[in-house]
Amino acid sequence: MAIHVNYSHKCPKCGLEYIAYKEGIKCPRCGAEPKEVFDIVGEAISSYWYNINVGSMPIFGIADFYVYHIQRTITKFLRKLVGVTMPTEAKKVLMAHIVRMRFDQYNELKEHMKKLTAYLVDRLIEVVYENGKPNPIWLDPKKIDKAW
Ligand SMILES: [Zn+2]
Repeated sequence: MAIHVNYSHKCPKCGLEYIAYKEGIKCPRCGAEPKEVFDIVGEAISSYWYNINVGSMPIFGIADFYVYHIQRTITKFLRKLVGVTMPTEAKKVLMAHIVRMRFDQYNELKEHMKKLTAYLVDRLIEVVYENGKPNPIWLDPKKIDKAW
């Protein structure tokens, strides 16, 4: 069983289901202010190892949709970071990777998910390079290969 984040949020103006994952994120459809901010990126990073090793990733609500994207992307990112020793270099590698990623499947959330993914780069590097150098727990290729 995967860790599920019980959270949902609809735009108070147009009803679009999305998550304002940090301050300053407005509705991707109509630009209205969200009712609240929710740190879905932090939640998804925290539950990453649990979900790839123990859990499955069924998709139910809006939070699962985000968690699925974030956790899949973490695996892609970690594969790119094996052997990268400097956090500044890690950021360059991942930002270059985002340029090649496709977000078309997210339709009207396309730009929103692209920005979230760029934000994920910063949050993930904070965790993986916590003390300025790579934490081997995150960058063990054997572990990463077990992920999706
Ligand atoms: Zn809206």
